[in-house]
Amino acid sequence: MKLYTHSAVNEIRKRYDFHTTKSLGQNFLTDKSIIDKIIESAQIGPDDLVIEIGPGLGVITWEAAQKAKKVIAVEIDRKLIPILTETLSDCPNVEILNQDILKTDVNEIIERERKKEIKNVKILGNLPYYITTPILMKLLEDGVEAESITVMMQKEVAERIQSLPGKKTYGAISVAVQYYCEAQIVTYVPRDVFIPQPNVDSAVLKLTLRKEKPAEVKDRGFFLECVRAGFSQRRKTLANSLTSMEGVGKELAQDTLKECGIESSRRAETLSLDEFAVLAEKLKENLEIMKGR
Ligand code: SAM
Repeated sequence: MKLYTHSAVNEIRKRYDFHTTKSLGQNFLTDKSIIDKIIESAQIGPDDLVIEIGPGLGVITWEAAQKAKKVIAVEIDRKLIPILTETLSDCPNVEILNQDILKTDVNEIIERERKKEIKNVKILGNLPYYITTPILMKLLEDGVEAESITVMMQKEVAERIQSLPGKKTYGAISVAVQYYCEAQIVTYVPRDVFIPQPNVDSAVLKLTLRKEKPAEVKDRGFFLECVRAGFSQRRKTLANSLTSMEGVGKELAQDTLKECGIESSRRAETLSLDEFAVLAEKLKENLEIMKGR
């Protein structure tokens, strides 16, 4: 059965009396060419483990199962489990976990599966838009041991993540994600290929995890805090916006920026990842010196 057609989605919804839950970000994909692009750009090999976030009715899951050694699909909605059991009944290499991805220890799953001759791990999904950033940041901050994360999200979020210094779209999420990965938009997706139709357009973003981090950061938490503070008031200069951090007064912010060779009149949106890293290291050092006095 072709799962990705409008008629198949409607038939399943009717037969199971399944009503989509808006608060779970349930917008089902009905375009085979987009599914193919997700699968192709993830470059799934026969020895790979795929972890899918939010399989829904199983459209992406089914295609991934044809390429991967194993697919583990994490779906929060209990009502979708009997449906997935039917739509994926011809895929013995699929395991469905009925749980919240935000409460799932993905590295534990990966560790368990690595013992079974798994080569690479690819994470996929058409993400529930309401928690795109928390899902990505959890995976990245937990140091997920995957090669790539290829996911659909709201177009504007994908553009922000991929953005570079100097652009309007460049923000804390660009620096935070790019610290861990290289980001590339694979394709744009119009809203009319989903059932029900969301009121935003989408994009597929491929994140390739870096083997080596682009900048030296000893305290990742403090670095991210510094990035968030920098962008917290975009119109303000860095010397001002950094004062939203605990213990950071204007004088300390100005002195630290000077020590880093960064003009204190600059705004966060002009700072490269490297400059943020140097700034965070210096600021932490100066805060510790101050506390020790
Ligand atoms: N993959 C399907 C597709 O492309 O048609 C469904 C995508 S839909 C945008 C998002 C899916 O994520 C839904 O099935 C929803 O129930 C599920 N979901 C929402 N929140 C979740 C969470 N916290 N953990 C796991 N799955 C979640």
